Amino acid sequence: MNNFLNILHRHRYDIFFTIILILIVIFGFILLQNNETKNLIKILENKSFDIRQNLIAKNKHVNKDIIIVTVDDPSYEYLIETYGDWPIPRNAYAEILDYIEKQQPKYVAFDLLFIKSLNRIPNSDKKLIESFRKYKNTYTALNFDDYNFELRKPPTINNKIKTNVKIYSDNLTPYKYTNCRIILPEIIEATKNIGHINTPKSDDGFTRTVPIIVKYPNYNTKDYSEINDDYYLYMTVKMIIDYLNKYENENIKEIVVDSNNNLILGKRKIPLTKNAEAILNWYGKSGTEVDNTFKYVSFWEVFKSMQAEKNGEKSILPKNIFKDKIVYIGTNVFALSDIKTVPTSKYLPGVEIHATLFNNILDNSLIHNASTPYNLIITFILSAAVAFTVFRIRSVYISLILFSILTFAFLYFATFTMEKYNVWIWVVIPILSSVFIFVCSFIIKYLLKSRDFEYTYKLATTDGLTELYNHRFFQEELRKKIQQAEKTKNTFSLILIDIDFFKKFNDKYGHQAGDAVLKHVANTLKKCVRAEDFVCRYGGEEMTIILNNANKETAVNTAQKICQTISEKKYELTPELEVQITISLGVSTYGENGKKPTELIEYADKCLYKAKENGRNQVGFIE
Ligand code: GH3
Ligand code: MG
Ligand code: MG
Repeated sequence: MNNFLNILHRHRYDIFFTIILILIVIFGFILLQNNETKNLIKILENKSFDIRQNLIAKNKHVNKDIIIVTVDDPSYEYLIETYGDWPIPRNAYAEILDYIEKQQPKYVAFDLLFIKSLNRIPNSDKKLIESFRKYKNTYTALNFDDYNFELRKPPTINNKIKTNVKIYSDNLTPYKYTNCRIILPEIIEATKNIGHINTPKSDDGFTRTVPIIVKYPNYNTKDYSEINDDYYLYMTVKMIIDYLNKYENENIKEIVVDSNNNLILGKRKIPLTKNAEAILNWYGKSGTEVDNTFKYVSFWEVFKSMQAEKNGEKSILPKNIFKDKIVYIGTNVFALSDIKTVPTSKYLPGVEIHATLFNNILDNSLIHNASTPYNLIITFILSAAVAFTVFRIRSVYISLILFSILTFAFLYFATFTMEKYNVWIWVVIPILSSVFIFVCSFIIKYLLKSRDFEYTYKLATTDGLTELYNHRFFQEELRKKIQQAEKTKNTFSLILIDIDFFKKFNDKYGHQAGDAVLKHVANTLKKCVRAEDFVCRYGGEEMTIILNNANKETAVNTAQKICQTISEKKYELTPELEVQITISLGVSTYGENGKKPTELIEYADKCLYKAKENGRNQVGFIE
């Protein structure tokens, strides 16, 4: 039992660290299970994505073959003035489309929903429907949502719009929508170039991803219990498949998602999240005419140019501006609410999201998440590097500087990999982990230091043989006691002890036996005094005791008790041989017998001498 307690005592620091570390890890683990914590980490990670996107946006180049025609605020005002209301009659779009198509663009895509509206004009709609039938390179959109109408069943969608998708991944769950705002059925009849344009926002209102594949039930089946889900593709994905087949000699016939969640498009791929979303690689702030932003043309400029051409006047837009271009048509008006907040811009026209996706797929530059094991390895390496600097570097300041350098180097690495390899590696968990390791390393380092210090202190103040305090400690403690006594008027006493005839003992039984007796005496002395008293080895076979708060009387009594205890106690040298030891003692008291260390020691020594003179085994006094 005693042995066990000893081991516990000796390893108390290690046990303490281990328990604290285990508690911290358990606490961290519990925290990470908490949904709020998970959300917070996710929000921070998303923000770190935004920062990285902003840092690298300026070095990107957009494809100048993409042109965005927007119904911006001036166009909106102009069109309302011209047509008297919004939405404008759809033959206006048909006319614009005719004008653009005359210049032979590669593709024209409407990021507009041609739904059944109250104030639509059937004849005017017909013109647009005809255009869709006529121009095979024209795309338009429908939109899913989750409104639950109890008044009616959700609409069915013509089978020609859906896409067959082969999924070889176990980790892909596309969003499933339950309702659809159906567009004019005649348009669906006229063209199969229709995709969805759902663009959900994250919790913080930012759009970072677009759902490439979504699910919608096939309500065409008679028996409601046998409803299957159909897959629908994002409008731009449908368009780019045609583009790649036509202009890049690809032969993409079926849509395949491989086991790593990549949607394969010939030489290119769209890395998908587990919800079948693509993480967009954003370009610069729209509207600034630099290399990393899309080219914008106002709807009214196209409208005016079209009219000018009809009237044989000079057009305000350059000639053949749409030739061989990918043309997106959408709105950029607050009143029409198709404005998104994205990492690089607070107000981004929804239509630019399509342009961004088209450009990303073309450049094969969509962002993909680094795998969890890879992220964990990075976390481990960073934390290990931090721990290494703390343990290896003596100075706190230099460790702090190195820690900051490591953190910045890591952030640079995370930004660099996003720019160069389009990879999103975790930033928040590695940094949280390295801060945690940094703090823990410091605590452990200083606890270890204090343990070393304690050990060294013990070595410096203890006598190796008897484990009593040594001579140096005695002198130091005596000096301190005198200082204390001067201030507090408390007194203290000193007992000087010498073993009787020890030389003879050594000669008779040998030095080993002498050593054993010294230990025995030392142990007995310790047992005879209080915890606050100091038993020291003065030198050779002489020992001293500093008795705290003890006047002469108490000290003499203690000395006499010690003398008696030692002389009465038989000491078993070997199982067959018992010896009896005696000691002589001298006592001095602070104040009465002196106030300096030398005076006190000298007085006690003189008393001790008297004890020897009077026949030993007693406490000596000077008359
Ligand atoms: P007295 O009763 O007058 O004190 O006689 P004494 O023999 O004890 O006196 P003296 O001071 O002449 O002898 C002290 C002896 O103590 C000398 C030395 O051999 C022995 N001694 C001192 N240190 C140690 C030690 O660490 N181990 C052993 N075994 N003996 C020691
Ligand atoms: Mg001696
Ligand atoms: Mg002696």
